[in-house]
Amino acid sequence: MDLSFSEHHNLLRQTVRDFVRTEVAPHATRWDKEERFPKELVPKLADLGLLGIRIPEEFGGAGMDTVSYAICVEETAKVDGSLALTVASHNGLGTGHILSFGNDEQKKKYLSKAATGEWLAAWALTEPGSGSDSAGLATTAKRDGDDWVINGTKMFITQGGVGGFCVVLARTNPNVSKQKGITAFIVEHGTKGFTASKHLEKLGCRSSDTAELTFEDVRVSDKQRLGEIDHGFIDTMKILDRGRISIAAMALGLGYGALDRAVQYSKDRKQFNKPISDFQAIKWMIADSRTELDAAFLLTYRAAYLCDQGLPYSREASMAKLFASEAATRACNKSIQVHGGYGYTREFTVERHLRDAKICEIGEGTSEVQRMVIAKHLLS
Ligand SMILES: Cc1cc2nc3c(=O)[nH]c(=O)nc-3n(C[C@H](O)[C@H](O)[C@H](O)COP(=O)(O)OP(=O)(O)OC[C@H]3O[C@@H](n4cnc5c(N)ncnc54)[C@H](O)[C@@H]3O)c2cc1C
Repeated sequence: MDLSFSEHHNLLRQTVRDFVRTEVAPHATRWDKEERFPKELVPKLADLGLLGIRIPEEFGGAGMDTVSYAICVEETAKVDGSLALTVASHNGLGTGHILSFGNDEQKKKYLSKAATGEWLAAWALTEPGSGSDSAGLATTAKRDGDDWVINGTKMFITQGGVGGFCVVLARTNPNVSKQKGITAFIVEHGTKGFTASKHLEKLGCRSSDTAELTFEDVRVSDKQRLGEIDHGFIDTMKILDRGRISIAAMALGLGYGALDRAVQYSKDRKQFNKPISDFQAIKWMIADSRTELDAAFLLTYRAAYLCDQGLPYSREASMAKLFASEAATRACNKSIQVHGGYGYTREFTVERHLRDAKICEIGEGTSEVQRMVIAKHLLS
């Protein structure tokens, strides 16, 4: 395995790092307080290629690989978990599903608008009654002539309220095993009966848009069907494999971001007439965090590298997400400890990092689900 980064990857990392430091860092805490998705940033994200990371150039995207995708998410998360979640889900889930399973017409129509930011992409699998057991979804799509009629409710959908279109998973055949009778559809905002019914208030990633979506007799033509009939869940598992790499990268960025701040603070803060970085207790917290995050870094980029080589990477993606998300939560928690009481206030960003990092243990499959996936690979 070659884990050295190319010149292109290093340049990309520096470019995204510079961008988020100037355009995002000064505003991220305010956006979080206001719980507002920063729509004004979308054109700038598009200009940099962050909304079409893997979309081929012929559709207006940057045509980059999965390692690049992870780099973009990691660097964004160092200053803003909410924006990293937007970049991860827009690229990996909504547009990723069309990129992997859409036909040429669908790619031309949706990917070009996604890359320019004209339409942000949402991806709706989770429902009020089905989360970890995602194949247990109750939303239905029934055939009516050349159309499909969709009914149901989707929960926790990122970009659900601000997206231009949504990829929706719905049951099309109740008479086969639950994994086999599911199909994906593309539903555009403005379609009759499709509403973002509730904006959800959250612990973290508060400036990322999360909505409950309702589908009431939503009629779409068969041209909006994405992939083969009844094959949507199998496709979904592949989408989630790559998505988990991006959540691991998001966790990495949040963990490293919080650690950087702890290192700086420990050198500046004096107690007992010396910088607190002189105390062994502080040194150990910093050393443990960096060690765990570097281990997570290797797991994450191993999975991305395997994916780019066309090799199996499902187990490795789950291992990366599991370890990186839990390591990030620990690192953010320790960074608050290093900051003492100040870390517990909103004056310092480490509390935001901890709140944002927690979603990495939950979204795109909880830590428990990742352990199930890893064990299944090892035991089957
Ligand atoms: C901010 C945010 C953004 C999200 N974005 C999206 C999105 O864009 N699109 C989308 O489709 N979904 C999205 N989700 C949903 C997310 O993927 C689910 O929340 C997640 O999969 C867990 O499902 P659940 O919340 O229903 O929890 P549940 O499945 O009810 O789990 C509750 C607890 O039980 C545990 N558990 C469940 N089953 C088992 C088992 N078999 N063995 C052991 N433990 C188990 C879980 O690990 C967890 O600890 C988002 C969620 C959040 C909070």
